[in-house]
Amino acid sequence: MNFNTKTIHGGQEHDMAYGAVMPPIYQTSTYAQTTPGGHKGYEYSRTHNPTRAALERAFASIENGKHGLAFGSGLAAIDAVIKLLNPGDEVVSTNDLYGGTYRLFTKIYEKFGIKFHFIGMENAHRIEDYINKNTKLIWVETPTNPMLNIIDIKKAGEIAKKHNVLLAVDNTFATPYLQQPLDLGADIVMHSATKYLGGHSDVVMGALVVKDDALAEKLYFIQNSSGAICGPQDSFLVLRGIKTLHVRMQRHCENGRKIAEYLSNHPKIEKVYWPGLESHPNHEIAKSQMSDFGGMLSFVTKGNNYNEAIKIVENLKIFTLAESLGGVESLAGHPASMTHASIPKEEREKTGVVDSLIRLSVGIEDANDLINDLKQAIA
Ligand SMILES: *Cc1c(COP(=O)(O)O)cnc(C)c1O
Repeated sequence: MNFNTKTIHGGQEHDMAYGAVMPPIYQTSTYAQTTPGGHKGYEYSRTHNPTRAALERAFASIENGKHGLAFGSGLAAIDAVIKLLNPGDEVVSTNDLYGGTYRLFTKIYEKFGIKFHFIGMENAHRIEDYINKNTKLIWVETPTNPMLNIIDIKKAGEIAKKHNVLLAVDNTFATPYLQQPLDLGADIVMHSATKYLGGHSDVVMGALVVKDDALAEKLYFIQNSSGAICGPQDSFLVLRGIKTLHVRMQRHCENGRKIAEYLSNHPKIEKVYWPGLESHPNHEIAKSQMSDFGGMLSFVTKGNNYNEAIKIVENLKIFTLAESLGGVESLAGHPASMTHASIPKEEREKTGVVDSLIRLSVGIEDANDLINDLKQAIA
């Protein structure tokens, strides 16, 4: 089955009871047993729920994995991965990281004795310099947020294998439409399904996908033991979202290209970060591991003025000023004051998150309307 069919049919079967084409929302916490232990595979909805199970099979299918796990949020999914580790273990992580991931690593898990190294990975060979006998996990986010740096997943995978370390990739920005990390050597793929997989800005959810049975077993144990699951209604919504992932992504990419090109030629814009531009420093790696370049982009205005950037995002009319990304509607954000406010100024500036940086999640509206909106807001 090819990707554009998997989004609709992958891991799905019609409902056994009445043939419903969409899996019913099994809004139940528990399941009747005929005799103790006599059940139909479902006992309690923290452990299993048929609607969630349908979604988890869809996750596995679209990422070319074997096992999918759904969580109450992207961060809950990341939390489950870090719970594989023990005190004293070390993680080599991308430095230009989603702010909430950075907060989870440093504010929650450092105090439990896990050590994180945050490094620039655009040259993936650097990962090896930070690996020692305590290293258990490499955490990669690519494209990164909000700088759209690209990390070579295949190279990271080779380093992980050589040192017998797990490689996890946050695939939220790219989605499996653009890149499939498990095929490139990753052990775990993670998503904030809140973003493109859900795709309609109406649900918060996280996902993990793995191939290895033993690793899946450990993660299912954590999912059930820690309990950060999602409910059946949300599972239904994300399953519905996935069915149009490929058509939405196609338009996100087309609009992303048009806007990146428009901004690149704008006299007031200093720099545009979009991996599809030939001027992007990691364009070649992007071309080798992604099938297109997505709808996320960032730009910096000339003069790097904080207040001017705030004014631009306030003046936008079609783009909504909001956190999050990946929905059908276009969003704009100012990382320094919003998503990355929890990262100290000196830290964020080291990775390029300067005062005037504006991040766009380009939606699937008419491209000319979006360009005109940017034109008037920048003017
Ligand atoms: C949003 C996001 C997360 C966190 O996901 P939630 O669903 O908000 O918990 C993690 N990584 C990336 C890249 C994200 O954009």
